Amino acid sequence: MGSNEAEAVREFGGRLGIPGLFDVHTHFMPERVLRKVWAYFDAVGPLTGLEWPITYREEEDRRVELLREFGVVRFTSMIYPHKPGMAAWLNEWAEGFSRRVPECLRTGTLYPEPGVEGYVRDALHGGVRVFKVHLQVGDFDPCDPSLDTAWGLIEDARVPVVIHCGSGPAPGAYTGPGPVGRLLARHPRLRLIVAHMGMPEYGEFLDLVERYDEVRLDTTMAFTDFSERFAPFPDGERKRLLDLGDRVLLGSDFPNIPYGYLHQLHALERLGLGEEWLRLVCYENGARLFGAPPA
Ligand SMILES: [Zn+2]
Repeated sequence: MGSNEAEAVREFGGRLGIPGLFDVHTHFMPERVLRKVWAYFDAVGPLTGLEWPITYREEEDRRVELLREFGVVRFTSMIYPHKPGMAAWLNEWAEGFSRRVPECLRTGTLYPEPGVEGYVRDALHGGVRVFKVHLQVGDFDPCDPSLDTAWGLIEDARVPVVIHCGSGPAPGAYTGPGPVGRLLARHPRLRLIVAHMGMPEYGEFLDLVERYDEVRLDTTMAFTDFSERFAPFPDGERKRLLDLGDRVLLGSDFPNIPYGYLHQLHALERLGLGEEWLRLVCYENGARLFGAPPA
C-alpha cells in the first residue's frame, strides 16, 4: 500500500495508453453519513459472516488525494438517502463537494417523497451530471408514482443514473431485474447504469442492456475475489460482456472496499477480454458518456 500501490495503479492506466481512469462509482458524502456507512460495514461481518474491512478509512482530503495519486481523472460522489427528507440536503452537499473537487462529477440523488420533482428539477438546472439511486438501502419501488415526473425529467435531460438494483450483496423488496425492468418499460430512454453489473442477477441485467440502448453497467466490485466467492460471474456470459464492451463502465466503490483499488483493475484484466475492452471500460466509455475530463 501507500506510494507503491499508487504507482502500480497509475502503471495500469499507462500500459493501456489512456489519459487516466474514469471511475463512475466512488463514494464521497457528508462525514457523519459516511461514518454510519462504515459502522454498517463493520457490523456486517458478525451479521452475515461476510467480513468487510474498509481499506481506505481516511479523512476526506486524503481520500481525494489517493484518487489523484491513482490517476483517476474523473469520479463521482455517490450519495443515497435511506429515509425521506434527506435527498435535497445530500444534493446540496454534493454540489459543494464538486466545487471543492473539480474532478468529481456533480452527483444528485432522489427518494419517493413530496417535493422530489422540485429538487430533481433544481438539480438538473443546477448542473447535476449523474444521479445515484440505491433501491436496497432506500427500500422503495422505482415505479412509485411519486417518482414518475422526476424520472421523466431525468430521461429528457439524458443525465445518467447509477442505480443499485441487483440483489447483491443483500436483496431488498425492490431489487432484482423486475422493478427496474418495469421502470424501463415506462421510461425506455433512461440512461441507467446498473451498479455492480447487476450482481448476482448478471444475465438478466445483461438482457436489459441488450434490450435498451441507453442502459449500461458498472463494474463495481464485480469479478473480484471477494464477490466471486458469493456471486460468481458466469463464464457463459463472458462473450456478451465482450460484445457489450461499449456499455460497461469502470466503478470501484472506493473507499468502502475490502481490498486495494488495484485488485478491481486486475479482476477486469484477468477476464481476458483484451486491452481494447479494458481501454473502453476504464476510460473511453466514461469520457464518451460524460465528456472528456479537462486536461
Ligand atoms: Zn457503492
